[in-house]
Amino acid sequence: MFKQTTWEKKLIFEQSNPGRIGHQVEDLDEEEKSLLTRAKREISKHLLRDDSLDLPELSELGVVRHYTRLSQMNYGIDSGFYPLGSCTMKYNPKICDFVASFPEVQNIHPYQDPSMVQGSLQIMYELANWLAELSGMKKVTLQPAAGAHGEYTGMMIVRKYHAVQGNLDAKKEIIVPDSAHGTNPATVTMCGFKTVVIPSHRDGCIDLTALEAAITERTAGIMLTNPNTLGIFEKNIEKIIRKIHDVDGLAYYDGANFNAIMGKVRPGDMGFDVVHFNLHKTFGTPHGGGGPGAGPVGVIERLEPFLPVPSIDFNPKTKEYFFQHNHSKTIGKVRSYFGNFSTILRAYTYILRLGYEGLKAVSEMAVLNANYMKSKCQTIKDFSVPYGKNSFCMHEFVLSAKKLAKEKNISALDVSKYILDHGFHPPTIYFPLIVPEALMIEPTESEQKEMMDGFIKILEKISELIDSQQQERILQAPLNTSVGRIDDVKAARQPILSYRMLKMQKEEL
Ligand SMILES: *Cc1c(COP(=O)(O)O)cnc(C)c1O
Repeated sequence: MFKQTTWEKKLIFEQSNPGRIGHQVEDLDEEEKSLLTRAKREISKHLLRDDSLDLPELSELGVVRHYTRLSQMNYGIDSGFYPLGSCTMKYNPKICDFVASFPEVQNIHPYQDPSMVQGSLQIMYELANWLAELSGMKKVTLQPAAGAHGEYTGMMIVRKYHAVQGNLDAKKEIIVPDSAHGTNPATVTMCGFKTVVIPSHRDGCIDLTALEAAITERTAGIMLTNPNTLGIFEKNIEKIIRKIHDVDGLAYYDGANFNAIMGKVRPGDMGFDVVHFNLHKTFGTPHGGGGPGAGPVGVIERLEPFLPVPSIDFNPKTKEYFFQHNHSKTIGKVRSYFGNFSTILRAYTYILRLGYEGLKAVSEMAVLNANYMKSKCQTIKDFSVPYGKNSFCMHEFVLSAKKLAKEKNISALDVSKYILDHGFHPPTIYFPLIVPEALMIEPTESEQKEMMDGFIKILEKISELIDSQQQERILQAPLNTSVGRIDDVKAARQPILSYRMLKMQKEEL
């Protein structure tokens, strides 16, 4: 029986007790005092804050208890199963965090002279090369800070490519399948293109007739995820990319699902021109709630001059790593400094620890686990697999609760809330958009059979509850979590994200 810890939900500000001290700051010495006086004199008045920071006043123990209790009301991969499809919430080995905590890499500054940080530059140089090797690209930049940021970087390269060809006026459209992640059309728009959506075929792959109808001289490129968000490998991929190349379009690979293919196939060999990776999904950084992450981008040889500056290069004569600012057609800089270094360190550690055979085994196990779960889940009578029922999936698959919703008024959201009550994180729901009442399940390679069986049992229990007319129990869920059903709409429309916002709202009432 699962029951999540519930502590009193007082904010840290509400626990404040004037005069209570957690950390004693030393008095300023004479020199610091005179610096402060001078600063106050020289900084323009409207930029100066009054002395009060309005910070909560607590003892050190009070702070420790508050955050320990909050962490107990949280859920993560370290506490249980987390099959959030497309997000690859796998176990991130602790050795990656350990290496990222070394003082040698923690206490350096990006403005240090390259001669002082040769080791860190070597790590970045080697990681970029490994990613290039794994994806079949010529060169990789580590600058982008997330998958979506990688998409932006890659699409700006596509844009600049057409501009340099003198074709930007003609090349206006990017083709995106209807199973794509929402960041894809958003990226297309941000980079000044128009999205042309094409429908998926009944088999979950791209509909070739629809693709042919969409390709014109205006086509600047295509954005694809392969395997796609249905967990299905695009079997016509070479043919599709050839058609795009025929009109001088470029093919962009959304690498969020890279966990399915490492060491097995390479986007470069499929014909792709630009690739992004989600290091936080595939290569060992704990993520969620918006970060941290990294979205390196790889390109084929022809597009190398377009990469952001600086890149990190090696001079074999002097045996030194250095920043290369010379890219003739660069799109410029997409981030301060050189990338999200702590995520880069974790990815470097992850790859080095597993090696080529290990990475291949990761993908094989991720696919095996997903197929195990799919074969069991699709036999449960209230759920169905609308795409790829009779074939193998890759690292994830999408169940539909359409029948439940239609006949019993129980939605994919209700199913998720009931799953929460058993100490499991629910799958991704309502995505991809082409599956009604979608439940997108990605167990990842690191999950144990007992856990997967436990999850399948919960879905079976849902069927049993419905058979015995007890669906109320599903609609009431979750009852065993620290927080019950949340008002999603209010949370999205009236977000209160700071104590100041909360105080303002209280004053208004
Ligand atoms: C996660 C994801 C992205 C975006 O990556 P972020 O790192 O979250 O910005 C893009 N495409 C797909 C298919 C994804 O799953």
